[in-house]
Amino acid sequence: MPNTLGGGRARSLAFETLALHGTRENADKTGSLTTPIYQAATFAHLGVGRSTGYDYSRLQNPTRQALEETVATLEGGCDAIAFSTGMAALACLMDLFAPGDHIVASDDLYGGSVRLFTAVSGKNGIGVTYADTSSADAVESAIRPNTKAVFVETPTNPMMVVSDIAALAGLCKRRGCLLIVDNTFLTPYLMRPLALGADIVLHSGTKYLGGHNDALAGFLVCARADLSERLRYLYKTTGACIGPMDAYLVLRGIKTLPVRMERQQENAAVIARWLKEQTERGGALVTDVYYPGLDDHPGIEVSRRQASGFGAMISFATRDEAIAHGVLERVQVIQFAESLGGIESLITYPAMQTHADVPPEVREARGITNRLLRLSVGIENAKDLVADLRQAVYGE
Ligand SMILES: *Cc1c(COP(=O)(O)O)cnc(C)c1O
Repeated sequence: MPNTLGGGRARSLAFETLALHGTRENADKTGSLTTPIYQAATFAHLGVGRSTGYDYSRLQNPTRQALEETVATLEGGCDAIAFSTGMAALACLMDLFAPGDHIVASDDLYGGSVRLFTAVSGKNGIGVTYADTSSADAVESAIRPNTKAVFVETPTNPMMVVSDIAALAGLCKRRGCLLIVDNTFLTPYLMRPLALGADIVLHSGTKYLGGHNDALAGFLVCARADLSERLRYLYKTTGACIGPMDAYLVLRGIKTLPVRMERQQENAAVIARWLKEQTERGGALVTDVYYPGLDDHPGIEVSRRQASGFGAMISFATRDEAIAHGVLERVQVIQFAESLGGIESLITYPAMQTHADVPPEVREARGITNRLLRLSVGIENAKDLVADLRQAVYGE
């Protein structure tokens, strides 16, 4: 039998090694270095009351299981549940709550999460109050007797606001509610919210975990067995599971997560500095840069404390809307496309894309103006990326 990295050994191995080799719980007798794609809906029984451990792929699938074990290990959770998309993971998570329950969420969030809270959770009688989660006091004043959870993105999408997870975890423990962290932007390579006291981590695996813009995925990672049991029950009941092929692609993506992340954030630091320099020029065409690794970012200290890097997402504002449109139309290496976290650099226009369903006055108040652009920095050569942005901003 091939080596098994699971169990006790897994804990002594470094992140890069675990990301590459997974836990090999499912290593088969062929010695295949990659997890086979079990493209099967159902599995034959050995006899009455005798199962191989696999009955039907909505319940268990070996490819998905290898992915789930890898993500659980990397996030330090007792279980990771793999969904068809990040939104499917969030929809299942919200099924934990009942009419009359209330949650507090970051006031700057992925637009799809806001849409789900408004259009689906609202209809189901679950109230959501948005608060500046970078302030534990603001969260505390938003908590009500029926508050069941605090839902945080950090850094937020798209304004890059940083929240102190350990401080919020202490508050949630005191007030008897769950702390849920959307860790899509930093991934467990840079930050492990469960170790900081969070109860559940959510991921859009479509982004950095998959990393190649070729598969959709979502995850819920649980700190405790009671949460995992409740969520697994909802998962098998509502059925938004990831297919075997996409599970394979995300598992393959995770093998290179550490090297991709290193290169992407190295490039992001170069670009953030270049953008910052542009804001310092007379008659600047770039007016604001939001990146937690910049010295004047209000979240830099908290970021340093709770994460081992600043990630590769940058937002910036141009002097006027026409310049923002010009950048989107002129970029050549950087692609004007939704999504983030993959190896290709992508630029998006939050006001018209990810956050189009957020009411305009709310968007404006939060800084998501028609001048704001969001950049997901890829693994291209940094000089090419800066040159592309320069010609896109200045039309040179
Ligand atoms: C993309 C994204 C989601 C939703 O994930 P999908 O895989 O697109 O369904 C949730 N949260 C964040 C922070 C995201 O970027």
